[in-house]
Amino acid sequence: MRTKMVAGNWKMNKTLQEGVALATELKEKVANPRCEVVIATPFIHLATVAELLKDSPIRVAAENCADHESGAYTGEVSAAMVASTGATYCIIGHSERRQYYAENYDILRTKTDLCLKNNLRPIFCIGEVKEEREANRQNEVVKAQLEGSVFHLSEADFRRVVLAYEPVWAIGTGLTATPEQAQEMHAFIRSLVEAKYGKAVADDTTILYGGSCNAKNAAELFANPDVDGGLIGGASLKAEDFTTIINAR
Ligand code: PEP
Repeated sequence: MRTKMVAGNWKMNKTLQEGVALATELKEKVANPRCEVVIATPFIHLATVAELLKDSPIRVAAENCADHESGAYTGEVSAAMVASTGATYCIIGHSERRQYYAENYDILRTKTDLCLKNNLRPIFCIGEVKEEREANRQNEVVKAQLEGSVFHLSEADFRRVVLAYEPVWAIGTGLTATPEQAQEMHAFIRSLVEAKYGKAVADDTTILYGGSCNAKNAAELFANPDVDGGLIGGASLKAEDFTTIINAR
């Protein structure tokens, strides 16, 4: 049985105090979820929020980690440092990292390896931009992203990876993929995992949908057999909306 999951991505929002207030509210509202619940916070929140949530079912993730183990990389935060805060997941390959920080397949492959080496579960993001969707190239794009950064993993390591399909044209735009588009792509991604690792692994792989998923459309998206949950940006910043999405899973 694969894990169903709703994960929030706070991005570069919330001061430490605001983040603690949101995590405190979530802890009260999300006492007994039916799925795995994860919140990805900025680095500076991780230790405090992980401590605050240690007796709750909510898990904590970083939004990124360095592509080096340690050393003279001013301003960077390593996977080992993330793990030392109590976080257990790390988002890797978010489209904003690919686009604004030029994170290519090789960098993301290294980051994935470092997460796994440090016992962090990567939430690995893939997805096409608008022009690629318009040219009907979305399948080849996500295939190349998987082959470039995660399909080198052993079966045991790959089983620790959560995939998140996030069509870039849907992130923060209010343009959600239709449930049919989401299901079609998730089924395609699962078929790629099956071709690489076999049916048992494919059946167990958690594939999240992300891109303007909100309290209103979550249930319809999650109703699809290959959509195992969501990676939620904007709607994860309000406890009530995020809780509604969690309860839709
Ligand atoms: C995201 O950034 O991962 C995301 C899905 O954002 P939003 O929900 O705001 O579109």
